[in-house]
Amino acid sequence: MTEALLPYCATHDASDAPTAADCGGAARDIAEHACQVLVNQPVNAEYRHMVVRAPAGASLAQPGQFFHLACPPGASGSTFLRRPMSVYGADPVRRTVEFLYKVQGAGTQGLATLQPGDTLDALGPLGSGFSLPDCTQHLLLLARGVGLATLSPLAAHAVARGARVTAVLSARSKALVMSAQRWRAAGATVHIVTDEDGDSDPLQLEAYLRDQHAKQPFDFLSTCGSNRLLVLLQKLGNEWDVAGQTAIEQHMGCGMGSCYACVRPFRESAGSDRLTFRRVCWDGPVFDLQETTSW
Ligand SMILES: Cc1cc2nc3c(=O)[nH]c(=O)nc-3n(C[C@H](O)[C@H](O)[C@H](O)COP(=O)(O)OP(=O)(O)OC[C@H]3O[C@@H](n4cnc5c(N)ncnc54)[C@H](O)[C@@H]3O)c2cc1C
Repeated sequence: MTEALLPYCATHDASDAPTAADCGGAARDIAEHACQVLVNQPVNAEYRHMVVRAPAGASLAQPGQFFHLACPPGASGSTFLRRPMSVYGADPVRRTVEFLYKVQGAGTQGLATLQPGDTLDALGPLGSGFSLPDCTQHLLLLARGVGLATLSPLAAHAVARGARVTAVLSARSKALVMSAQRWRAAGATVHIVTDEDGDSDPLQLEAYLRDQHAKQPFDFLSTCGSNRLLVLLQKLGNEWDVAGQTAIEQHMGCGMGSCYACVRPFRESAGSDRLTFRRVCWDGPVFDLQETTSW
């Protein structure tokens, strides 16, 4: 494990993590990292942005991967299980990892109590991230709520690889729109839609997306954070014959493929009526757009 080389984060070898053979996948460099909190501040009435200093192995996390966070006790008490959080940013040069999280129940209320200098116990990086085809020229990202956190590093990654990125950021209200500046700074063309303006409605959004596709066709599609956006993108991807991926959320236990608490049904292949069951934590959380079943 690379973490042993790093002085500022006490880390532990995840020796009891499932092996590749246990999990039917490739070996992954998963470890429990003691990360130092640098920033943990509100971005609006619901979400907070946390930046931690992390060992090299953690800061190499890829877009779509997540960490399973041990949450300190908060106002609603302590939590037994860790809480999964997407990588909002990871910088192997600065050795930082970022999270953008909504304060909801006991776990995230506990996370919100962390102060700069405190230690965050983060297990990861976990899961399979996005795999953007090398030839991608125009990527469409549809993000809502938590999906903003998950898709944000994919936008930056795609631009760095020379792709054009059109991003739709959807929120209940303008006050809850997050990260638009960050996405623009990364090089994405950002279109904001909100429930309060009425333009987040899938029918209106569909018209906008068709227009964009007619101007410059999308050749890869990704979405996260909304079932309605998933269904819309599946329909358009099917019609346009454009592939894509989606990252999904699911309550999970171990986060490493062992406990099967996060199993969900998926189509065996695009268009198939046959279902298969996959672990969101290990086989995902990023899945083929057309194989994902809506909920
Ligand atoms: C792979 C993955 C990545 C995630 N990334 C982010 C992220 O970047 N930012 C973020 O804000 N949230 C993210 N989530 C959701 C986050 O894990 C939950 O919001 C968190 O576990 C809530 O814990 P809690 O103790 O605060 O609330 P709880 O008291 O456990 O729950 C509060 C509410 O959240 C719902 N909830 C709890 N866990 C989940 C879950 N896993 N999926 C869906 N709903 C849930 C509950 O049903 C309840 O309504 C992610 C989830 C997954 C599976």
